[in-house]
Amino acid sequence: MHTTIIDGAAVARDVLESLTLEVAAFRERTGRQPGLATVLVGEDPASEVYVRNKRRSAERLGIADHHRHLPADTTQARLLEVIDELASDDAVSGILAQLPLPGGLDATTVIDRIPWYKDVDGLTTTSAGLLARARPGLRPCTPSGVITLLDSAGVEIAGREVVVVGRSELVGRPLAQLLLQRDATVTTVHSRTRNAREVTLRAEILVVAAGIPHLIGRDDTRAGATVIDVGIHRSAEGLIGDVRFEELLGHASHMTPVPGGVGPMTIAALMRNTLQAAMLGEAIA
Ligand code: NAP
Repeated sequence: MHTTIIDGAAVARDVLESLTLEVAAFRERTGRQPGLATVLVGEDPASEVYVRNKRRSAERLGIADHHRHLPADTTQARLLEVIDELASDDAVSGILAQLPLPGGLDATTVIDRIPWYKDVDGLTTTSAGLLARARPGLRPCTPSGVITLLDSAGVEIAGREVVVVGRSELVGRPLAQLLLQRDATVTTVHSRTRNAREVTLRAEILVVAAGIPHLIGRDDTRAGATVIDVGIHRSAEGLIGDVRFEELLGHASHMTPVPGGVGPMTIAALMRNTLQAAMLGEAIA
């Protein structure tokens, strides 16, 4: 069987290109510029790289940069104050608190301080509730990126047997809900699942977000399945995913690579959310 590799970088480029036009049209129509506030606390090198990439991407699109970098010893009270300042600033369409936060800071409280209409990461309890109820709102970036990748590859979702490996608040859980809203028959596999292989073998679409390098191989997947690898790990061989990519060549019908699969789409989805937040801001004002 021929395996089609889903080129996440190319799909993300297309999304960003059309967003550039949409941002320009928004500015023309409203006379306002969408703005993104990334909030980074401390000096974690990986977080610094992630935030830099998000800011660069926003800048290229014509989205204003309202970045805040706070010292590692920032108190919870001060961080909440900063979130409140950004929440009441009309120039800020979206707020993103980069995780993980340094020890001593409570991420759930900080995230939940972001108003739902500025929650561009889609991680507040309100956003999770809107998603669970299938009401309009801002959706988490990686899961909505996965849906975009499936759509871009022409993979039918409705009515299909879909298995999501992982149930984190960031990826697995919201993704299962998005897939359900697209009329898939969804099963979630997690660390307590018995006979996980029996379940993953049923999947016509298998999305793997377990955070375990090379967890899934040919024996875990049905021939002709579409396999989306969300995992990302640094190894001696470079970046690798949760899926043993080489084993699935000639076995899967569609597959995402690591790197160059889900990763680039996550940032594109964040940019899409920022524009959507700017539109929500307009509607609410
Ligand atoms: P996480 O919070 O660690 O969650 C992992 C999930 O996998 C948990 O629900 C866990 O089950 C489940 N799990 C663990 N071992 C398992 C096993 N052997 N079989 C089945 N399920 C198992 O991770 P995450 O934040 O969702 O991220 C998952 C991966 O995606 C990571 O590699 C992360 O780096 C990557 N990621 C990539 C992007 C991107 O943009 N490409 C974005 C976000 C995350 P329990 O709930 O039972 O513990």
